[in-house]
Amino acid sequence: MDLFEYQARDMFEAYGVPVLQGITADTPDEAAAAAAKIGGTVVVKAQVKAGGRGKAGGVKVVHNPEEAKAAAEAILKLTIKDLPVNRVMIAEGAQIDQEYYFSVLLDRSNRTFLSLCSVEGGMEIEQLAEERPDALAKIAIDAIQGIDLAKAIEIAKAGGFSEDIAAKVAPVFVKLYDVFVKEDATLVEVNPLILSKSGDIIALDGKVSLDDNAEFRHKRETMERDQLDPLEAKAKESDLNYVKLDGEVGIIGNGAGLVMSTLDVVAYAGERHGGVKPANFLDIGGGASAEVMAAGLDVILGDPQVKSVFVNVFGGITACDAVANGIVGALATLGSSATKPLVVRLDGNNVNEGRKILADANHPLVTVVDTMDEAADKAAELANR
Ligand code: GDP
Ligand code: MN
Repeated sequence: MDLFEYQARDMFEAYGVPVLQGITADTPDEAAAAAAKIGGTVVVKAQVKAGGRGKAGGVKVVHNPEEAKAAAEAILKLTIKDLPVNRVMIAEGAQIDQEYYFSVLLDRSNRTFLSLCSVEGGMEIEQLAEERPDALAKIAIDAIQGIDLAKAIEIAKAGGFSEDIAAKVAPVFVKLYDVFVKEDATLVEVNPLILSKSGDIIALDGKVSLDDNAEFRHKRETMERDQLDPLEAKAKESDLNYVKLDGEVGIIGNGAGLVMSTLDVVAYAGERHGGVKPANFLDIGGGASAEVMAAGLDVILGDPQVKSVFVNVFGGITACDAVANGIVGALATLGSSATKPLVVRLDGNNVNEGRKILADANHPLVTVVDTMDEAADKAAELANR
């Protein structure tokens, strides 16, 4: 999950990272009230999960509540990188002397953490990396060692900071690393981190991505979230492990590994059938009961892009006969809302009993195929009709 800037600001504040006051507003009047409360020069900032808001007109420096109201009115009408602006943050204005860049992120390909740092901040990091690659330091961070003060100074110097300023920013880097680890983030980025005219280091704009797999360790129930894709929301309600993709062959399987390889064989088969692709990932787990199967089919059949469904089950603790009963029960439950052809491949524990149940039910939408490759081919063919 990516955080809004105001959420990152609040998180930074809780860890002692220096930030300026910020108050969110959903209407121009609220913006004016927030500006009055903060007083003096303030910045009206679009709250959308995209960089480059400044260039898109989503960051405006204003000097009184009336100006804040007018700026908020304009910004709340903007769409930045396809994202409508529904909220602004009114931030205390800063007197900027220098703009710096700092981030720490999970570097999956190198199986480590990585810190990026530059004394030349402000512009978008992709642009800096392209135009002035030497100005952007990339320092691997050992997860055990982390970023202590000595490491932070090393990072700052590699990023081109003078001795003096390195000593000033280093304690802030240590705190930002603390945010990164304790909040289970995959990215903590500050751009710009500024040196103010009065000599203070302040995090002026923050971007934080959190690891959703670690959510159980945190209390974030009240945190504002993005709207889920409606199909993903429905799957979540039924505790299904579902990811929407953009192909035409719906996939249901038991076990993440089996479902992943099913996506592969369907993608390969699709190349022979007009380029159809998997429509989703859906792992119904070990206990593939009729209810779970019905919930899974319901989600997949609700995807208007789906043209056929491939049910690929390897019977283990939940045997194939139970799964077959699940499929028959699910089709009975769904009744006339089940309209797309299903290709079923069953193997493993009690496979013969399972296939017999499906054969006896003789449902017009169901085709039973013995092997995974043949089933993938059939499902792709049906999706391409
Ligand atoms: P982004 O464009 O989405 O990255 O939004 P930022 O929050 O980083 O703002 C963009 C730019 O606006 C910054 O790099 C600053 O130059 C400028 N800016 C933001 N806040 C202030 C402020 O309080 N005072 C001044 N003078 N400029 C600001
Ligand atoms: Mn920024």
